[in-house]
Amino acid sequence: PIYLDCHATTPVDPRVLEDMLPYFTAQCGNPAMSEHRHGEVAHRAVEQARQTVAESLGCRSGREIVFTGGATEANNMALFGALGACSGKRHVIASAIEHASVLAPLARLENFGVEVTLLPVDSCGRIDPECLRRALRPETRLVSVMFANNEIGTLQPVADIGRICREAGILFHCDAAQAVGHEPLDVEQLHIDLLSFCAHKFYGPKGIGGLYIRDTVATAHWQPILYGGGQEQGLRPGTLNVPAIVGMASALRLCMTEMDENQRNLREASGELFARLQRAFPQLRMNGDAEHKLARNLSITIPGIEASALMLLLKDTLSFSAGSACSSSDTKPSHVLRAIGLSDEECFQTIRLGLRPGVAIDKIARLLQRGIAAAPSFID
Ligand code: PLP
Repeated sequence: PIYLDCHATTPVDPRVLEDMLPYFTAQCGNPAMSEHRHGEVAHRAVEQARQTVAESLGCRSGREIVFTGGATEANNMALFGALGACSGKRHVIASAIEHASVLAPLARLENFGVEVTLLPVDSCGRIDPECLRRALRPETRLVSVMFANNEIGTLQPVADIGRICREAGILFHCDAAQAVGHEPLDVEQLHIDLLSFCAHKFYGPKGIGGLYIRDTVATAHWQPILYGGGQEQGLRPGTLNVPAIVGMASALRLCMTEMDENQRNLREASGELFARLQRAFPQLRMNGDAEHKLARNLSITIPGIEASALMLLLKDTLSFSAGSACSSSDTKPSHVLRAIGLSDEECFQTIRLGLRPGVAIDKIARLLQRGIAAAPSFID
């Protein structure tokens, strides 16, 4: 089958794998043991990778990057880390369409007395910055809004959100798991204080990611969620996954270099694919924001066709998802699609395609057309 689920995860770029391989075998050192040669080589590789990641995100120093086991951990660390250290009344604002790895920690924090406001989004999936401004309270400690949504690809007005938070002296956490390596992003320009990311969304390995923590935040208001050895300045103890860290930096370096070309290619490919499908089935609707959107994303509602039936029908030829792959075991309608105004029925009639550069649009269009035409319809 052709792989079309790049929001769920991406394949490791062979050039990245090549860079990783020595660190599984010959260069097996623990970077915390830099007294001997093996440790020294591993330590150097990790610090070089940290520098690459920091430069790619516009950080002032590599010290602001903490490696984690992925974006779920980074999101948990950001929320528990920043809010656990505050005493007194605490209030957090997030968007209603955040990933479960933000919404679930927030639900947990509510048990500890944190008040949470979830901001609505418009029919394209964007929050209104003025609505955020109105939701601020004297006890608001943190705003958590994602850079790009994993189901509908919508990009949030991150610059406006950052400006509002900075003016109000409130921390801004941004889950950028879908954006890093794909969208230009600078934590200084955007006034982001905490930024989560993971390598497997940008052609790096799974199980590795990081959290950018603005230096003033790490020192002033922080509570680790893990305790152990002193790795990562004590903010995230545990032996570092050297091959994965090297792979993440290598993947990010490639994505930064190839970003413009990939974006152009993907925008053209997704536009052409949707246009062809819509010519064949005029009732199709594209979800998300046509202007502010991840180039690789296509979220399509097909009235009358159940997404899971279409997936099953095309299982041997195309790998795509219905709704969000991060919660595909969930049988409830997607909270993201509900938030942009789709009915329960429409949620279950929605597919998500995540393209990668160079995919065979012709073939995919033909297979999808054939599948949609053959899928059981509930209209007639
Ligand atoms: N945040 C968003 C927006 C995501 O799309 C994902 C993907 O699964 C995550 C967080 C979690 O990332 P990870 O799989 O690295 O834990």
